[in-house]
Order: sequence, then C-alpha cells, then structure tokens
Amino acid sequence: MLDTASLNNLLAQPQKIVITTHHKPDGDAMGSSLGLYNYLIQQGHHAKVIAPTDYPEFLSWMPGNGEVIIYTENTQQAADLIADADLIFCLDFNALNRINDMGELVRAAKAYKIMIDHHLEPEDFDDYRHWDINACATAQLVYDFIVNTLNNRSLINKDVATCLYTGIMTDSASFRLPNTTSTVHRVVADLIDAGAVNWRIHELVYNSASENRLRFLGHCLTNCMEILPEFNTAIIAVNKYDLKKYDVNTGDTEGIVNYALSIASIRLAAFIVEREGKVKLSLRSKGDFPANEICKLYFSGGGHRNAAGGQSSASLQEVIAQFKHILPEYKKLLIQ
Ligand code: 5GP
Ligand code: MN
Repeated sequence: MLDTASLNNLLAQPQKIVITTHHKPDGDAMGSSLGLYNYLIQQGHHAKVIAPTDYPEFLSWMPGNGEVIIYTENTQQAADLIADADLIFCLDFNALNRINDMGELVRAAKAYKIMIDHHLEPEDFDDYRHWDINACATAQLVYDFIVNTLNNRSLINKDVATCLYTGIMTDSASFRLPNTTSTVHRVVADLIDAGAVNWRIHELVYNSASENRLRFLGHCLTNCMEILPEFNTAIIAVNKYDLKKYDVNTGDTEGIVNYALSIASIRLAAFIVEREGKVKLSLRSKGDFPANEICKLYFSGGGHRNAAGGQSSASLQEVIAQFKHILPEYKKLLIQ
C-alpha cells in the first residue's frame, strides 16, 4: 500500500511511469490518460500511455496522441515498459481483465499500481486508489487528483485541460447524464479557464464522422431497430455482413445506441453487434434502471447504471433472444 504522502514523495523525483486504460478506449479512457500524461511530463517523468487496443479516429487528435503505444501493435515494447515501470496508473477500469493480456503483465509488474476510476466493485490489485463511483468521468477524478491530492492546479495547462475536458464531455454524454453535478460544471469551467477550447473539442469529437458512418447510422435506425413497447425497450442489432458492407471501423458504432434511447417512451436501449467472433452488447438506460446489472448477470460485463456493456460467445440471434427473455423479469422497472 502507498499513502498520499509517500506518493507525493515518489512523484517529486522523475519516475518511469506507465499509464494504461481499458480495452477499446473511449473518450474518457483516452482523455483521462492523456490528461495525466500531459501533467506528468511537465515534471520530468518518463511517462508512456499504453492502450490495450486501438481506438477511434475521433479521439486521435488529443495532445500526446502521437506518443501512445498500442499494445496489440507493439506488444514487446509495451511489455518491457510495464516490467520496467516504477509506477503504473490504471485509469477508467478497475479489474485487470479489462486490459486483456496486459492484465497479467501489470499484476506481475514490480511497480506501484495506482487506480483512478469510477466503476463499481474494484478488484484488489492496486497500491493506491482514487476511486469514486459518483464521479461522472475518470477525467473528473484525474482533475481532482492533480488539484487536491498533488496540490498542483498550476500545472493544468492547455494540453492537460483539453484532454480532461474531452473525457468529462464524452462520459457525461455532453453534460446530460444525472451525474453531471454543479461540481462537474465548476471543473469544466476551470478547464476552460486553463485553456480548453470547449466548442472546438465538441467539433473534433462529434462533427468528425465519415459519410459511411452516417449512412450506417441510417441503416441501423431504419432496418435494424426493433421497438418492444410492452417493455419500453429498443434493440438495434447489427450483423457482421452489414459491418463489412458499410466498412464500419472502430468507433463508428459508438453512440448509435443513444438514438434509440432518445425515443420518449424508451427506458432501455440495447445495441447488439456481431464482431470479431463474439457478440458485443452496449446497454443504455434512463433514470434508475440498472443496465449494468443485466450486463453483469447475463453477459460477462458491467459498467454504470445508465451505460453498461458485455459480450457473449453465442450467435447474434441467440443473444437477441436471450436479451428479450430477460426483459419480463425487469418489466416493473421498465414500465413505471
Ligand atoms: P460501451 O457500451 O460504450 O462499450 O460501454 C459502456 C460502459 O460499460 C463503459 O463505462 C464501460 O466501462 C462498461 N463496459 C463495457 N463493456 C464492459 C465489459 O465487458 N465489462 C465491464 N466490466 N464493463 C464494461
Ligand atoms: Mn469512464
């Protein structure tokens, strides 16, 4: 275990630091990781962000992006950095299976492991924890960590602020989810003061789609969406042939599930996609409906109450049938 004073002492000298985040990183995963990276390099640390897999184009513009190592593409280099690190920051995940094969390398590494995260039920692999499930994003916790744990608000420069703003914006669904408190707005106001250009970040993330992505979205909504009015639930299911036909890349499916949730009566929306030999589910819900419970109990996954994910090795049709089969159990919560 590491206490706050010892951590501050360690960080007072240049250290070899690895920052890692979850499989298929999203805006919060990359925003919090690169935010922390841009902070640490100002203090002379030798820091590297290692992503377990690739991530979407619309996140590939943040300051420091060119220095990110992708484990699946540079496995040996990443493994060496992990083995050699003094400190490993684990951001936006709290169970080592969320970083695939890297998980066991991190577990075995001699480094101190520091978890900064906002997901439920952390696994016990860390030496220091900055964890709060009420935070709307890990990027919010990185801000808090820099300002209140490390007492270094003055090192939140434009690059740090830009990355952290991106994390908070994406994970709070553009400041719309119930966990977007007044504190969150104060934090993002401070990030704007520190140099984050909010309107430009919105442009880069949300107005950077390809033509294909928009046509694919149209296909999903017109041809692949099923509404189950008796359960206030919508399902969008996409097979691997459509992914090929529309040349769907990493990130192109992100956010499509939210269109289904935007229907007034819908309380639960599922995006179910056949991908890389398995079926992946993304669930979104309104209010207090526990989307993460369904993912955890039935689809080897987890997440937050209103945004959760999981997977299955069954066929697409079987997963759709299984999902529908579960709904009667939740009918009371869905129709209230
Ligand atoms: P998404 O639907 O965007 O893939 O994921 C939504 C949320 O669920 C994210 O916060 C993510 O951390 C979580 N999540 C997605 N897939 C998994 C999974 O397989 N396991 C766990 N524990 N959480 C997941
Ligand atoms: Mn997050």
